[in-house]
Amino acid sequence: MINVAIDGPAGAGKSSIAKRAASDLGFIYVDTGAMFRAIGFYMIRSGIDPSDEEKVKEKLDGAEIDIVYEDGVQCVLLNGENVNSLIRTEEVSDAASKVAVLAPVRKKMLILQRNIAKNHDVIMDGRDIGTAVLPDADLKIYLTASVEVRAQRRYKENLEKGMEADIEEIKRDISERDRRDMTRSEAPLKKAEDAVEIDTSDMTIDEVTDEIERRIRKVR
Ligand code: C5P
Repeated sequence: MINVAIDGPAGAGKSSIAKRAASDLGFIYVDTGAMFRAIGFYMIRSGIDPSDEEKVKEKLDGAEIDIVYEDGVQCVLLNGENVNSLIRTEEVSDAASKVAVLAPVRKKMLILQRNIAKNHDVIMDGRDIGTAVLPDADLKIYLTASVEVRAQRRYKENLEKGMEADIEEIKRDISERDRRDMTRSEAPLKKAEDAVEIDTSDMTIDEVTDEIERRIRKVR
């Protein structure tokens, strides 16, 4: 199996690029952020404060997460329910990064993620794929971009989805999430030593996708 890890902060372009490269090359795209989002969503729905570590840990066993593919699109099942359309709000982004600091949450996700990678050629994106989940990945990419560019991209995405958007608020949310993701003690976001770093600030999605596909073809 060929395993490709793509890590980086929110808005660096990971999911758009990984999705496209996976479809072009016949890999499965695994969006690991969606799994943490599903856990965050489950806590909100259960009336639990996602930063209340003890309560989150107590409730964790009640959240069964599965990943299935429908027409090549990843669906996250939370206790059997497809929650794809419910996990893309700023509230859930924030909850996801709060529950993601907890070791038992990460352990549960890691088992699921490794199982998928064991059985398929995958392009997996997240924060700790190259460093913790797939340390022996055939190729590791670390995508970055300035916080201004990342906030601008998220702003445009939200407008396109018809969601309300405030650029300053998005910038604050992204910076806060970066800080939490990079400073947590469990599997923090950082570039793996053997990862290739690509700064996408001044690149188009096509340019980054081409570059990554070229690198994947070399390790295939
Ligand atoms: O990638 P996405 O923005 O959907 O991820 C939501 C949150 O889930 C991140 O801010 C991060 O806290 C957490 N996450 C993580 N490890 C991953 C993927 C996501 O901690 N591999």
